[in-house]
Amino acid sequence: MSERSNFIHDFIDEDLETGKHKFGEIQTRFPPESNGYLHIGHAKALFIDFSTAVKYGGKCNLRFDDTNPAKEDTEFVDAIKYDINWLGYNWEKLCFGSEYFDMCYDFAEKLIMKGKAYVCDLDKDQIREYRGTFSEPGIESPYRNRSVEENLDLFRRMRAGEFADGTRTLRAKIDMASPNLNMRDPAIYRILHINHHQTGDKWCIYPMYDFAHPIQDAIEGITHSLCTLEYEAHRPLYDWVVEQCEFEKKPRQIEFAPLNITNTVLSKRFLRQLVESGTVDGWDDPRMPTLCGMRRRGYTPEAIKNFLTRAGIAKTDSLIDFALLEYCVREELNDKALRRIAVLDPIKVVIDNYPEDKVEYFEVSNHPAKPELGTRKVAFTKELYIDREDFALVPPPKFFRMKPDGEVRLMGSYIVKCVNPVVDEDGNIVEIHCTADLETGCGMPADGRKVKGTIHWVSASNCEDITVKLYDKLFTIKNTGDLPEGMTYSDVMNPESVITLTNCKAEKGIGDTEDGHFQFVRTGYFVRDSKNPEVYNRTVTLKDSFKPE
Ligand code: ATP
Ligand code: MG
Repeated sequence: MSERSNFIHDFIDEDLETGKHKFGEIQTRFPPESNGYLHIGHAKALFIDFSTAVKYGGKCNLRFDDTNPAKEDTEFVDAIKYDINWLGYNWEKLCFGSEYFDMCYDFAEKLIMKGKAYVCDLDKDQIREYRGTFSEPGIESPYRNRSVEENLDLFRRMRAGEFADGTRTLRAKIDMASPNLNMRDPAIYRILHINHHQTGDKWCIYPMYDFAHPIQDAIEGITHSLCTLEYEAHRPLYDWVVEQCEFEKKPRQIEFAPLNITNTVLSKRFLRQLVESGTVDGWDDPRMPTLCGMRRRGYTPEAIKNFLTRAGIAKTDSLIDFALLEYCVREELNDKALRRIAVLDPIKVVIDNYPEDKVEYFEVSNHPAKPELGTRKVAFTKELYIDREDFALVPPPKFFRMKPDGEVRLMGSYIVKCVNPVVDEDGNIVEIHCTADLETGCGMPADGRKVKGTIHWVSASNCEDITVKLYDKLFTIKNTGDLPEGMTYSDVMNPESVITLTNCKAEKGIGDTEDGHFQFVRTGYFVRDSKNPEVYNRTVTLKDSFKPE
């Protein structure tokens, strides 16, 4: 799908026109925190960061934002790298925010020397109290006017480990009356006696995100720092840091609306809760909006990227219909997935006039629209399985599938007539006896009679037992950002988000096929589970009325 232009590209075009940057110099970055697995919201950010770099002949770095040592884990670093590559993106430089701790520290001292930062002894609660509100200006800290010498001394002693966590911070000296609360002398360094997964115990003070991020961007030569809307109010601080640290090349922060999808929550914090409470079966549960979950569900990188292209990039918040994602997945699988036959709720059919030991092979196409994908041979025998819903003892009007005394085509093979459905005492169908029109074969009946219905089937002696999992939305409400008063996400979880069908029958050889993506004919798109090879996950149903605009 071709790249659409968007407001971010308009800004960049502007920067090219004014000569601020040249084509080929555009540099972006993707800055995940290594505290969880990537979800499809992150895929949007990746899509924007990488496609922007590509469009302008530039590069995109992957930078793990690990300034917050308490929350990170190397398990996530590897998973995030894997997921980015899976989407088809290759970063230029791989960096860690912690690599810049020395430089951040030097810049902090520089700010102190310029009189632009001071050590403050107020604690967290006092700082909040002094900060004021949207309608009231803040109050200046009593430590605001310490001398440069005193500030330097205290800051160095903070670094040396002389003070306990939370007893002091280094704050930028900006404006306690600013209408933007982020500009009211924000903390830029805090004391944390904690081991860091990259730097060990080298540091006991850590820079705040708002201070570290612009410095990292500027050092790496990022020209456009693309992020979600929540950072809009932080942009003046971003620019202040770049300005005060006297970087010659100034990165430009541009914010875009985060991805929101109906019936889904895109928040690592909440997804982690689902995993830790055992509500879902891990980060890669096929119901999860994580990239690993979607991969296990059978979504492909191309489908996800097509979805992101169609969802578009805008400056204002919106809620994208999950059906658009399913549409894109279906569109791609319709094109690529091999056709196979599976019967999800089997009932046995016995062809009375077919010899006991005979096996006949019918040649079936792997993809009706793509002869280049070849054919395969499917066995036909006396005993078969068909899907329960393809039979009706008391058929409703216009029921063209199997019914008593009715004829139906077994897909790709004989026309059969249902002569005797065997029903047990409780009214359940036990098995169905039929006779086949062996004269006609795969052709049309010679006498010109019409057979309207065609149903799928597998041979009972030439099939594989499989388990099928049908997935549905994780939440019952459309807009999870608008949770009804007093409710939690747990209250709106869909109790039928997964249905497991054991005892399903698939044509023989399905397990040997390398590519695990299939269309089960007349049933839906499925993928072989990456952890349990006898399990097939439904990726998406066959049809939906949804049409993208
Ligand atoms: P979460 O709230 O899920 O934990 P996060 O913003 O804390 O997300 P980060 O690892 O910091 O997670 O995100 C990396 C990048 O992905 C950031 O630039 C962030 O703006 C972007 N991002 C996160 N969520 C979304 C989303 N729903 N849509 C688009 N971009 C997103
Ligand atoms: Mg974040």
